[in-house]
Amino acid sequence: MAKLNRVTVLAPAKLNLALDVVGTLPNGYHDLDMTMQAITLYEKVVLARSSGLNLSLPGSPVAANDSNTAIKAAIAFFRYTGLLAGVDITIYKNVPVRAGMAGGSADAAAVLVGLNALYGAHLSMSELCALGAKIGADVPFALMGGTCRVQGVGDVMKALPPCPDCWFTVVMPDYGVSTPEAFAAYDKVGSSTHPDCEAQEKAVRAEDLAGVCAAAGNALEECSGAKDNEAIKAALCEHGALTALMTGSGAAVFGIFDDENDKINLSLDDVGGELLIVSQFTLYGNCRKGRRPEFLSAARPEIAIPMYEKFVAICREKGYHVETGEFGAYMEVESLNDGPFTLIVDSADLDAPKKQ
Ligand code: ATP
Repeated sequence: MAKLNRVTVLAPAKLNLALDVVGTLPNGYHDLDMTMQAITLYEKVVLARSSGLNLSLPGSPVAANDSNTAIKAAIAFFRYTGLLAGVDITIYKNVPVRAGMAGGSADAAAVLVGLNALYGAHLSMSELCALGAKIGADVPFALMGGTCRVQGVGDVMKALPPCPDCWFTVVMPDYGVSTPEAFAAYDKVGSSTHPDCEAQEKAVRAEDLAGVCAAAGNALEECSGAKDNEAIKAALCEHGALTALMTGSGAAVFGIFDDENDKINLSLDDVGGELLIVSQFTLYGNCRKGRRPEFLSAARPEIAIPMYEKFVAICREKGYHVETGEFGAYMEVESLNDGPFTLIVDSADLDAPKKQ
């Protein structure tokens, strides 16, 4: 076997199609009921073999210290496996911070999955989930991906069939929300919103997008302190969103669209903050104000390539700077453990196999 020296993991962010607080657990944590959806907005995490443990996050204000989820994940992995080894981690953050999109959890999941591949440790998905759950409540879902009903503190997970085909337009205001503060505020004021997660699960299973939207909601919305929620939701709905809601504990707000033209027609000037247009399932592209869209190779090129071409055309029409030709730029793309990750291994990252 060739020795792997470096691996790149693309780890998706999530949106909450529903989030309800259904009670308090004996340990004081909130008992949650949620529908989570992985989306095509990725953290790019590069892992290289090393004798030490180093982290850098170029261009990101997130601190590269021991409280970073990536470092916690690496330490958990090496402790569990007993491997006397290290890793240099570089995280190119794409997911907004304090958005309720679980960027930090995606980083932890990417480190676990990447180290597993780099060192050939063969940990199972349930071992990775158990390690991840100790780092953060959203890490097990980040490892699972797709569409899931998630309960308890994030540890009780049921994989659902894919959410009916739709688009999400995500608006991130120019401020974030602290998750502990949002829950503390919930404890004081409660919520008048309690989405019906059972009905939403049924709608997902019935491929009923209108039903998914009818059951959508977020019990943390009123207490998150995200002051622009109502204005952003109104802008999204005016532009054809079937529904709009906050994700996680905020501050990002998103609309669900069944018509790709509606979501593209929402001008960047209609909303404050940052605008991201993403979809679910197939690796596709994400489009972000002030940055070029990114495109990824796909597990199902027959679907993704026509979508990619259409997306490029629409982006160009709307004045985005688009760089094409990224399909095929990756030497090898693998889907791991049926999880949501894309693992990129360039031939330059491989040592030649030893002669037997
Ligand atoms: P969630 O929905 O899981 O609560 P979030 O999007 O609200 O996620 P994150 O951006 O993932 O929140 O993380 C919030 C805080 O966690 C940040 O303010 C930061 O200080 C800390 N943090 C630790 N590690 C990371 C990381 N790798 N990326 C982002 N934030 C991190």
